[in-house]
Amino acid sequence: MAQNASFPISFEFFPTKTAEGAAKHVQVRQALYARQPEFCSVTYGAGGSTQSGTFAMVQAIQQEGVAAASHFSCIGATRQSVRSQLQQLKDMGVRRLVALRGDLPSGYGLGGEFQYASDLVAFIRAEFGDFFHIEVAAYPEVHPQARSPEADLRALAAKAQAGANSAITQYFFNADAYARFVDDAQRLGVGIPVVPGIMPILNATQLMRFSDATGAEIPRWIRLRLQAFGDDTASIRAFGLDVVTRLCEQLRSLGAPGLHFYTMNQSTATLALCDRLGL
Ligand code: FAD
Repeated sequence: MAQNASFPISFEFFPTKTAEGAAKHVQVRQALYARQPEFCSVTYGAGGSTQSGTFAMVQAIQQEGVAAASHFSCIGATRQSVRSQLQQLKDMGVRRLVALRGDLPSGYGLGGEFQYASDLVAFIRAEFGDFFHIEVAAYPEVHPQARSPEADLRALAAKAQAGANSAITQYFFNADAYARFVDDAQRLGVGIPVVPGIMPILNATQLMRFSDATGAEIPRWIRLRLQAFGDDTASIRAFGLDVVTRLCEQLRSLGAPGLHFYTMNQSTATLALCDRLGL
C-alpha cells in the first residue's frame, strides 16, 4: 500500500480479547488504512501475556497489505524464547519491531536474561542482522524509573548504539519537552529519528490513570478543564481535538520526522486529528 506522501504517520493498536472485538477492529483498521500509514504496530503484553493475540493481529495487518510492527518486550524472557518468537515473526514476513524492556506486574521480580531494552536490540542485531527495522521507546518527560534525565538520555543513546533505527516517544502534551529532549539527544550523539507518540484525548479518567502510571504529565490547565467537563464526553473530545491538533502542529513546525498515533483501538479521534492536520 502507498504511504502518506505528505508526512509519515503510523498507528498503534493493542490485541483484541474476543472474536467479536477482533471482527470490529477490522473496520477500525480499514478506516485508518485510508490515511496510508507507514506501518501499524501492535502492543505486546508484559511477560509475553498477549503474545498469541499480538502475533494474530500483526499477521492480519500484514495480510491486509500494510506493514506491521510487532512490539516485543524482553523482561522475564530467555534468549531462547526471544530467538524463537522473533523467528516466528520473521517467518510471517514481519520486518519491523518495537523493541522494549516492558514492565512486569508487581510481585513478579525481574528475572529473565535481559536487563534493558538495549540488551534486546543488541541481541536482535546479533541474531538477525539487519532483517528487522527496530524502533525503541523514548521519554521526553523522563521514564519513571530513570536515575536522572541524563541517565535516561544515555539509555536512549545505548539503544541507538546497539542498532535501533528510530525511536517513538511516550505521549506528552508539552511540545517544549520534546524539543529539548531531541536537542539533548542529538548533543549526546543520538542520530536516529525520534517520532512523537500522540495520544488522542478520548476519556479523561482513563487518560489520567495512564498518565499516573507512565509519568506522562497532563498540564494543570488541561487536567482542570477535563475535570470541569465531568461526564460531557462530547465536550471532552472537542477540547481534546483542539489541544492535540495544536500539539501536532507545534511538533511538525519543530521538525518532528513523523507522528505515531496511540489509537486506543478506535478510529474516530485519530481520523479527526488527521483531518485537522491534512494527513
Ligand atoms: P529501557 O530502555 O530498558 O529503560 C528502562 C529504564 O531503565 C529507564 O528508566 C532507563 O533510564 C533505565 N536504563 C536503561 N538502560 C540503563 C542502564 N544501562 N543503566 C541504568 N539504567 C538504565 N510496554 C509493554 O509492556 N508493551 C508494549 O507493547 C509497550 N509499547 C510501548 C511503546 C512505546 C512507544 C513506549 C514509549 C512504551 C511502550 N511500553 C510498552 C512501555 C515500556 O515497556 C515501559 O515504559 C518500560 O518501563 C520501559 O521500557 P523501555 O524499552 O523503554 O526500557
